[in-house]
Amino acid sequence: MRMFKKFLFCTSIFILGAIAVRAQSSFFKADSNAQWISMDLHIHTVFSDGAVWPSIRVEEARREGLDLIAMTEHLEYQPHAEDLPHPDRNRSFYIASEMINPEERLQVINGSEITREMPPGHINAVFVKDANKLLHKDSLTGIQEANKQNAFVFWNHPNWDAHRIDGIARLEPFHNFLISNKLLHGIEVVNETTFSEEALQIALDNDLTILGTSDIHGLTDWAHEISEGGHRPMTFVRVNGKSVEAIKKALFSGNTIVWYEDLVIGKEDQIKQLVSENIRFGTPTYPEDKLILQLDVVNESSVPFQMEYLGEYSFHQGSSIFILEPKTTTRIQIKTGTKEENLTLPFRILNALIGPKKFLEHEFLVK
Ligand SMILES: [Zn+2]
Ligand SMILES: [Zn+2]
Repeated sequence: MRMFKKFLFCTSIFILGAIAVRAQSSFFKADSNAQWISMDLHIHTVFSDGAVWPSIRVEEARREGLDLIAMTEHLEYQPHAEDLPHPDRNRSFYIASEMINPEERLQVINGSEITREMPPGHINAVFVKDANKLLHKDSLTGIQEANKQNAFVFWNHPNWDAHRIDGIARLEPFHNFLISNKLLHGIEVVNETTFSEEALQIALDNDLTILGTSDIHGLTDWAHEISEGGHRPMTFVRVNGKSVEAIKKALFSGNTIVWYEDLVIGKEDQIKQLVSENIRFGTPTYPEDKLILQLDVVNESSVPFQMEYLGEYSFHQGSSIFILEPKTTTRIQIKTGTKEENLTLPFRILNALIGPKKFLEHEFLVK
């Protein structure tokens, strides 16, 4: 059972376990005019091998509070084609995008899954203009055409056990060719219910954008227990204004974070930014003239951050490892010995990954 309840977004002091409810907001807070935009760049409908009509994808995304989804049907794999003849590979996008009101939060973009054996395996192209033009006998021509359309192109589920019986993501010479020719821009480190540390390392080594997607075929509620407080894997970018162009630019620049179960995964500077904007330490107080520091720590995000204090002081209540519940304030008490008006508290955040088995360490300034 996942620990967090997405639709119980709340701000309350987490001492007695009481949780108040507030209106739905973003998954992560950003300072100034920026926003953390949530997206799922890999989904299917009956227009390839999915089980639902495109309208259900739009309704799901609205209910889950997503900012952007990409319709990415398999180009070549069309198991419903006899029942649902459709010569136009853009149909799923057209149906979904017709449902969108320009005023609403959700945006829909066009995409395709170029579906090949390994190598290269399955490749997604999103922000495509015409999916039909990507359909070619050889996969390289399709990928080149996607790039001609200025699409953002990424490698899907490089750890998929149908392609890698050991589940280990590794580059083939064809992938190296695509990367060195700037034809491949990102890689899924999270696909559906799997997380690949090897794919994360490939992303870091080759400066590929880190992505997490649902690759949903059935219902997201069934796959991720949304009604029980779960969530699908999502990718986030931090942008000023949520235009499609700004989001695309952020994806190309590699400034992403993946939210998967209770983990946030990304490059160090992105994770640091997210953490510093979402965990806020209040003013230090010393009640009743005692020398025990009392601090309220606010977690503005939807993730239960798992904190490990790395400093010299000991705690008066609880231990130096604790959880900051989502959208909640937690009070901690630290024995500082003397009254401190300014201090630096070093933490390791045990569910903020900046590399395989590598967790963000961050010093919070308290004053
Ligand atoms: Zn696939
Ligand atoms: Zn897929």
